[in-house]
Amino acid sequence: MRILITNDDGVYSPGIAALAQVATRFGEVRVVAPDVEMSSAAQSITASRPLTCKRTPLPGIEAYRVNGTPGDCVMLGTTLWEGVNLVLSGVNIGSNLGNALWHSGTLAGAKQAALLGLRGIAFSAPSPDNGEPQFEALKPWAETVLAKLLEATDLPLVNVNFPAKPPHGIAWTSQSMRYYDGKVVPGKDPMGRTHYWYTVVPVDATEQGTDRWAIEQGYVSLTPLRLDLTDHPKLDTVRKVEAWKKLKFA
Ligand code: MN
Repeated sequence: MRILITNDDGVYSPGIAALAQVATRFGEVRVVAPDVEMSSAAQSITASRPLTCKRTPLPGIEAYRVNGTPGDCVMLGTTLWEGVNLVLSGVNIGSNLGNALWHSGTLAGAKQAALLGLRGIAFSAPSPDNGEPQFEALKPWAETVLAKLLEATDLPLVNVNFPAKPPHGIAWTSQSMRYYDGKVVPGKDPMGRTHYWYTVVPVDATEQGTDRWAIEQGYVSLTPLRLDLTDHPKLDTVRKVEAWKKLKFA
């Protein structure tokens, strides 16, 4: 099995090295990742300029750095290395829960794989006190999750989040979408000029069964996702209303 690995924290993040080391137990591994941090880049692709893909040192792993987004890296990685079966993205330094999935560059790496008809799995871990997650302690859990998901061949896209403390289990979850945690905060630069900074505020309320709830409870959260954004129940409703109108006024 050929496993392509990307992230949005950049090719030199300790999280991608940890994920690549775990992935080598499952197949051939190649890392193709952004040369600088691209967090919150979401599913953007670079269409206005050419890209470069350069070999870069990463102990024991064949790795390349790209001057682009996670989406670009998956496009380049799967084009330059034929027969990729699986794309892993992460391990991100910072959780990707709830509405963050709309902004996440980590998840976008996995989504780009799903768009190409491949399997994609995104991994994220909270950063305690703005430090780094304990990647060594998470590695056995990443291996367990990967083994479990590789057996579940009918899941094209999965978002995985680790809890802050050592996990005591794995939970299947839904995306928590009820509360939005993004906020714009005004401030002053050193010259006294006003600027604005997008930040994230803590969400206290959690709903049982969601990704946010699971990591609060100390579980590894696995959320199966899909690319189709259509609201199918709403679509059925509007179609039924249209059909009824035609019947009435025909
Ligand atoms: Mn990131």
